[in-house]
Amino acid sequence: MQPRYEPHGVEERWQQTWEAEGLYNAEPDPSRTPYVDCHPPPNVTGRLHTGHALNLAVGDLLIRWKRMQGYNTLFQPGFDHAGISTQNVVEKALIDEGTSRRELGREKFEARVWEWLHEYGGKILDDFRRIGASLDYRRSRFTMDEGYVRAVMQFFVHLYRRGWIYRANRIINWCPHHETSLSDLELEHEDVDDTLSTIRYPLADGDGYIPIATVRPATIPADVAVAVHPEDPRYAELIGREVIVPWTENRVPVIADERVERDFGTGALKITPAHDPTDFQIGRDHGLPEPSCIGADGLVTAAGLEGLTQKEAEEKILAWCKERGLLEQREHYRHSVAFCERCHSRIEPRISMQWWCAMDGIKQRPLEALRSGEVRYHPESQHRFAIDSLENAPDWCISRQIWWGHQIPAWYCPDGHITVEESAPDACAECGATDLTRETDVLDTWFSSALWPFATLGWPDETPELAQFYPGNVNTTARDIIRLWENRMIFSGLELLGERPFDDVVIHPTVLAVDGRRMSKSLGNGIDAFEVLERHGADATRYGLLKNSLTQDVRFSYAAIEEGGKLSNKLWNAARLIVTACDGALPAAKPSSLEERWILARLSQAQRRIEASLDEFDFAHAMDELYHLTFDDFCDWYLEAVKARLYDGDADARVTATAALEWLLKLLHPAMPHVTEEIWSHLPERTSRLIVASWPEAGGEDEAGALERVQEYAQVFRRSGVVPQLEGDEKRIFDAVVKPDRAPQRENGNAEAERERLRKEIARAEKQLANERFVENAPAEVVDAERAKLERYRRELDAISE
Ligand SMILES: [Zn+2]
Ligand SMILES: [Zn+2]
Repeated sequence: MQPRYEPHGVEERWQQTWEAEGLYNAEPDPSRTPYVDCHPPPNVTGRLHTGHALNLAVGDLLIRWKRMQGYNTLFQPGFDHAGISTQNVVEKALIDEGTSRRELGREKFEARVWEWLHEYGGKILDDFRRIGASLDYRRSRFTMDEGYVRAVMQFFVHLYRRGWIYRANRIINWCPHHETSLSDLELEHEDVDDTLSTIRYPLADGDGYIPIATVRPATIPADVAVAVHPEDPRYAELIGREVIVPWTENRVPVIADERVERDFGTGALKITPAHDPTDFQIGRDHGLPEPSCIGADGLVTAAGLEGLTQKEAEEKILAWCKERGLLEQREHYRHSVAFCERCHSRIEPRISMQWWCAMDGIKQRPLEALRSGEVRYHPESQHRFAIDSLENAPDWCISRQIWWGHQIPAWYCPDGHITVEESAPDACAECGATDLTRETDVLDTWFSSALWPFATLGWPDETPELAQFYPGNVNTTARDIIRLWENRMIFSGLELLGERPFDDVVIHPTVLAVDGRRMSKSLGNGIDAFEVLERHGADATRYGLLKNSLTQDVRFSYAAIEEGGKLSNKLWNAARLIVTACDGALPAAKPSSLEERWILARLSQAQRRIEASLDEFDFAHAMDELYHLTFDDFCDWYLEAVKARLYDGDADARVTATAALEWLLKLLHPAMPHVTEEIWSHLPERTSRLIVASWPEAGGEDEAGALERVQEYAQVFRRSGVVPQLEGDEKRIFDAVVKPDRAPQRENGNAEAERERLRKEIARAEKQLANERFVENAPAEVVDAERAKLERYRRELDAISE
């Protein structure tokens, strides 16, 4: 073994070895109990970021733990076709070549996307390998592969026949650059500096006007009403009359609606149903028309303003108003605006014909599963959030006006009838016409990823994989896709297979930048996951991310990752000492000395605590337990105590040291797989890998407190310099660990000061425990802890009293 542990090289070597030896592989085997984690598919265009790294650290920890426990584990990999972001990347390349997707046409464009993917796509799975994730890479699936597409088509047809899919002309988020609808998640909200213009709308029947404040004068040509609050005394008399819209000079009604905010602007709202979601709702409720004045490309279409940008149109309209004395004022106004996350275009709310999923029918079964706890989110706060977001789920817009994705399997005949089939029908289902055209829209990416837990196993075919690995056990992810992904998988699994896809959903923390803000490119506060891996290695990165996962928002912590590095080194040095001292075959023996009985009991005790933490998906406490077990108990106490005997060739000491080290390596392996496997390979007579070694049986913790007295006396010694009266193993261990030679024994005067301190502590604790109110009202564990302290003080005092 090298004197210093260097993760680089070692980690990559083990990653290749494990995979090449087939140790990540999952095979259907009805005689074994499966444990399945279908890992969230990353975008096929993506590369590793810290969120992925944390998610993999969590998922791989669970999978490696269960694998060692003997489960038939499947850690399912794959990637998502990521409709808009993939299309975006390829379109950019086309623009660089001086062409465009429209010039190529749909078919050629799709071929180009595939070409691009063969060359550059899916690199992220190599990043996953580099962090040591034991996914069965042979089983990687892609949401656009042939079988998966079939699953998506069947899902769509199923929902359509259930009556849960419909078309409707509604307002949606629209990106004028990509010319598609977008989900809320694909938007970025930013505060921007804008101008609020107050414009007078003259009354049609006589004198007077209504002043209206707007940030979007360019939408004035599509105004169809002016709305005021029904209880606003300023406008009460105007309700039911008409005003004249500037520029178009159309007459529109003044209506009353409680959704108007009296405090905003002048308290009167211009209603433009085609270009604002609130106006759209008000318009529909009042039966207003929905003319539009902005096209799909974001340019203005209103008469006299055709082809202008919104800014240009705004200037013209304001100039027109100013000439007529209708422009009251312009003032600075800062407000939140939505942008497309891919191209940063300002989002246009736009009415368009889209395909929708009716959530009222869909949400009932997943709601039952969540309410009954059949599927459980962790932590509990996210379970409640998941239920709330399902209860309040609005209908889901599932169509996108892009080319890369699953084209909706709906065909129109010349009469406008819709035929929905998994593959092209011969004739219209309603009138028999054969002249059919296919819907050009594709499905929202989340529509296909909703099938991930079973489409990856071959559904709709009845495969051995599906029989063995469905339903799965766990899914791990970030909270921002609970609505978009997790809840929908629960629905699709229950609906199509009649069983939940998994029992537990682990929501890991959101990793914030070191400054506590969200990581963002524009702030430049992002953490480069590759740099962290490069500098600290995969084990330290995994450990640090898990250790720092106690709450739902955590700041990225270099200290936690460095702690992981220290832990690796400490473990390496301890193992090196043992391996060097224990070379050759080992005789069987039973541990007899105190430090041996103690470390075996402590390993067992720590194992139970780690298992309890992992059962609750509490990774931070599991890491804490591993850290103290390794650093304090194993290295600082046990190894110091036993060192001399190991060097002396004591057979018992050698056997137990090797056994204890093996045990420790097994406990550490799921979190820090590489350094533990490397050490394991240096142990005598190693024939199989640690990754597939069996998880130890905990048991025999009676002696977990056996070193307590020595440890307490060591504290007394370090405070006061007083050497306690100890005998036998206790004395030997005390001497080995405390080494008086290093901390010179002080005058006996210190002993008196220490005795005085202990007497005071004893008096305080006795008084506390004599207080009936404390004993009756304080939690039992607090009272017990106080009693234990009192006993300890008394023992310590005994130890240093002559
Ligand atoms: Zn865009
Ligand atoms: Zn027809």
